Amino acid sequence: MSSPQREGKRSVFAKLCENSSLASVAYVLGRMVPPSNRLRKYKNVLLAAYSTNRRPRVVKNNPIIIRIPPASVCNYKCLFCEIHKDDLLFPDRPANLITLEDIKNYESFLSTAYNLWFYGGSAEPLMNPHLGDIVKYLKLKYGPRISVNTNAAPLTRRLSDIMVDFGLDYLLVSYHAATKEGYKYLMTGDVERVDRNLEYLNRRKARRGKQKPIVDLNFALQKINAAESKAILNKARELKIHAVHVYKYYGGRNKLQDLEVSFDYDAKAGNRVLDELYAYARENGVRLHPKKPDYWSKQAAEVAWDPENYDHNRKCLLPWTRLQFDPVLDEENAHYVSVCNRINLFKIRYRKCVLASQEHFDKLWNHPVLQYLRATVNGAGANPVCRYCKNYDRPILRNVDADRYAEVRDQAVIEFFDEFRKQYRYDEITGLEVLKENPYPDKFFLDRMNALPR
Ligand code: SF4
Repeated sequence: MSSPQREGKRSVFAKLCENSSLASVAYVLGRMVPPSNRLRKYKNVLLAAYSTNRRPRVVKNNPIIIRIPPASVCNYKCLFCEIHKDDLLFPDRPANLITLEDIKNYESFLSTAYNLWFYGGSAEPLMNPHLGDIVKYLKLKYGPRISVNTNAAPLTRRLSDIMVDFGLDYLLVSYHAATKEGYKYLMTGDVERVDRNLEYLNRRKARRGKQKPIVDLNFALQKINAAESKAILNKARELKIHAVHVYKYYGGRNKLQDLEVSFDYDAKAGNRVLDELYAYARENGVRLHPKKPDYWSKQAAEVAWDPENYDHNRKCLLPWTRLQFDPVLDEENAHYVSVCNRINLFKIRYRKCVLASQEHFDKLWNHPVLQYLRATVNGAGANPVCRYCKNYDRPILRNVDADRYAEVRDQAVIEFFDEFRKQYRYDEITGLEVLKENPYPDKFFLDRMNALPR
């Protein structure tokens, strides 16, 4: 999860985490901070610095970064999005629009979060009509840093007013094409409407004398939208965008899957586009993230999957710092729960599972499955999912061989839960189900695809 302030400098938090003495000082200070509503998040960050340094299985801090999907449906059908898989598997899925009451059930840990993301994945957070009230409530009571990712088409004037007036911090707008035709083709919407919405937001900020929300654009570069690059940077300048995030497109079950659109198939051409893009941004004063091009380094043909070819030294601290909820597509009032995108650990029925008090939340946050993950996330004896996650070839395999990628991922998830159940016992908690496999394994999707009339 990137933040505009972070690139290029190590945060104070990272320094505290790495130094044993500083982490101990952070712990002592953290214990001294009174648990008032506005100070809880700082207390929690100090305690989290200590636990990421010591890395115990059972932690005393709460997560400092939390991601929640306010909806499980979208107004778009972008060609590069997994919504096409969702539509095929669950065409009549529930919208799962969380309410302020649902947020209050999560209050034990939302009250201590430093960073809170309302995130969509293959859904659009602004489709939720309660989002404005949720932002108001949390900002007024606890003041966390709140970010939203969106395509900005449903960004109404009312919502813009709330975002500006109550200090929403950050909007990351999906903007993968900028011409009317290119945007319509790739993102299936009306770019002029999006631009009008962002212009209104700018006017409101100017009228109120506010800098926030900071607005960035998200641009996942691939062969089809490479020609849109300059138009995107021009729009970024016109719309007073803080920065454009230039990412490499990553594949999946989408409408571009068989078109070989990734520059992983032609690294030289992709790197030329990146050079031109960065040169144009420099000439026109548009800030890019990352600051230097993230070049393609391998050709697709070079990838051969070796499960042991993973980075043993890469440290992951997410099981101590992060909690994320993901959309459930086949059930009402439910989320998947995890600490990262590689594996869902639980399914939570959030109107049945009581989490409003710290005591209740501890049962989730220090659940044996999270203890197993914390014990095995790092080092040579890493669990099957973290080994797969840290494999040097995982990102490129995703783009060039979706079938093999899914097979490797789904198997790693099954092995993770098998290992966990061999080593740990746990009590059932009402409304909280420990998973056994990837809830939407690719086999499920392929079986459905093959059953379609031809
Ligand atoms: S799979 Fe493991 S290493 Fe990868 S992000 Fe998740 S917890 Fe960290």
